[in-house]
Amino acid sequence: MKKVLIANRGEIALRVVRACRELGLASVAVYSDADARAPHVREADEAVPIGPSPSAESYLKGDVVIAAALRVGADAIHPGYGFLSEREWFARAVRDAGLIWVGPPAEAIAAMGSKTAARTLAMAHDVPVVPGTTEALRDAQEALAIAERFGYPVLLKASAGGGGKGMRVVRDASGMASALDAAQREARNAFGDDAVYVEKYIEGPRHVEIQVLADAHGRCISLGERECSVQRRHQKMIEEAPSPAVNAELRKAMGAAAVRVAKAAGYVNAGTCEFLLARDGQFYFLEMNTRIQVEHPVTELVTGVDLVQWQLKIASGERLPFTSNIDPRGWAMECRITSEDAANGFLPSTGRIEYMRVPSGPGVRWDSGVGQGSEVSLFYDPMLAKLIVWAPSRAQAIARMHRALDELSVHGIETSREFHLRVMEDEEFRAGAFDIQWLERRLDSLVSVPPPRAQVEAAAIAAALLAERDRIARSPRGAAAPAVSAMAPEQSAWARLARQRGLRGG
Ligand code: ADP
Repeated sequence: MKKVLIANRGEIALRVVRACRELGLASVAVYSDADARAPHVREADEAVPIGPSPSAESYLKGDVVIAAALRVGADAIHPGYGFLSEREWFARAVRDAGLIWVGPPAEAIAAMGSKTAARTLAMAHDVPVVPGTTEALRDAQEALAIAERFGYPVLLKASAGGGGKGMRVVRDASGMASALDAAQREARNAFGDDAVYVEKYIEGPRHVEIQVLADAHGRCISLGERECSVQRRHQKMIEEAPSPAVNAELRKAMGAAAVRVAKAAGYVNAGTCEFLLARDGQFYFLEMNTRIQVEHPVTELVTGVDLVQWQLKIASGERLPFTSNIDPRGWAMECRITSEDAANGFLPSTGRIEYMRVPSGPGVRWDSGVGQGSEVSLFYDPMLAKLIVWAPSRAQAIARMHRALDELSVHGIETSREFHLRVMEDEEFRAGAFDIQWLERRLDSLVSVPPPRAQVEAAAIAAALLAERDRIARSPRGAAAPAVSAMAPEQSAWARLARQRGLRGG
C-alpha cells in the first residue's frame, strides 16, 4: 500500500490524511463542488473533484470514487464513516477493481447488515441480546401475542434500521396496531424494507460500546468500552472512555462478548459492538458498526493505540502485536461541536466562519473539518469538529473540557459550545449519573440557564466599543483622546501596593 484515496470529507477525511502522512503513505482527497476549498482537500497530497454538492451526486457515487482511485493510481480506499462505509456492494466493488478496501470484508458487513441477522449470530455464539424475536412480524395479532409473552413495554424495531428510524415503544396492547403501522411505514420509506420485529424495551439503560481490532491472521482484541449515553434523538453528543458504569470485571466480560461476535462474523479491521447496559448490570448486544466511529479518539487517548493507523496497517496485512485486552489509562472525553443553535431547539446554523479560535494546551485534541473562512452549508452533517480531552481522572477531564470549551470561539455561525459548557457544569453529569434518556429529560434546564459569564463579558465589551466609537465621532476632528484618563494614583492597585511597600509617597 502506497497511496490511499479517502472517500469522505470533513474531520474524518483529515484524520485519515494525518494517519497516512505519519505512516509515509500518499493521500488522495475527493471533493464535491461545495468542498473545493475544504481543509481535507488542502491537506491531502492530491485531490480529485467528484461532482456536485449533494452527497447523492458526489460522496455516495461509488463508481465515480473507484474510477478516481484508479485514475490517480491509488491502491487503497479508506471510506471513513457514513457515506459508503457500510455499503456491502461498495466494499465488494473496491475489491473487484483490484484495490485494497480499508475496512472489513464485504461478507462481514453483510453479516452485520441487518439487526435480526446480527441478533441471530450473537445468540448462536452465547452473546446476550435483548429478549425478543428475530422474525419479521406478520400482523398486529402476532405482535400482541409476542408482547404478552415478554411483557410490556416492548420496542418495535425495523430489521434494516439505522439512525433510530422505524422504532416505536409500545406501552400497552391498545397502542400496538398503530405503532406497528407507523414502524412499518417508516421502515419502508427509509430502507425499502418493512420487516419489523419485537424487543423487550429496557428502561433507563446506558449505551456502552466496545472497540475491537482484528487482523487478517486470526487475532482479534478488544480495546475497552466507550460510554455514549448522552444522546439527543439517538444522536450521540458526548462520549467518554472508560464508562463510569463499567468496572474491570464487566469490561472483561463485554470485551470477550464483542470479540466472540466479531470472530463469528469473520471480522477483520476496526469495528464496534454496541451494547445496552441495563441498571441491573446485565448487558445486551445491539449491533456491530463495521467501520471507524466518530468517537474513536477517546479510545485512542486511553489506550495509546492509533486506530486509524491500525486500520491501514491491518488492510496491508500487518499482524496485531497486542496479545491481550488493553486496559484504559486515565479518562478521555469528547464533545461533538455542531453547527446547531441549542437554545433554539438545535436549529441548524449555516454561513461563513468569520473567526475561529481553537483550544489548545495540555491534554487537548481538536479534530476538525473546518477552519476560519469555511462555509457551513446544509448539504452535509452539522458536525464541524470534535473537541477531545484526556486527564488522569474523570473529574479532571471534565474540568479540562470546560476550560477548553471556554477557549473555543467561533464567530459567524452558532455552535453547540454553550450547550456543552452547561453539561460540564451539570451535577448529574458530573456524578456520572445518566442513562440514554437523561439528556432529553434534562435538556430544557440545560439550555435555559442564565447567560454565562463569557457572554455577559462579551456584551459589556461590545457596549464599551460602541460607546468609544460614538465618543471619537463626537470629539473635535475625531481625535482619539484616551477614553478613560489615566487612573488616579489613589485608585490604582499598583500605586497602593507601591505605597504599602514604601516605594512611593502617599
Ligand atoms: P439504530 O441503528 O436505528 O440507531 P439501535 O438498535 O442502535 O438503532 O437503537 C437506537 C437507540 O435506541 C439505542 O442507542 C438505544 O438508545 C435505544 N434502544 C435500542 N433498543 C432498545 C431497547 N430494547 N430498549 C431500550 N432502548 C433501546
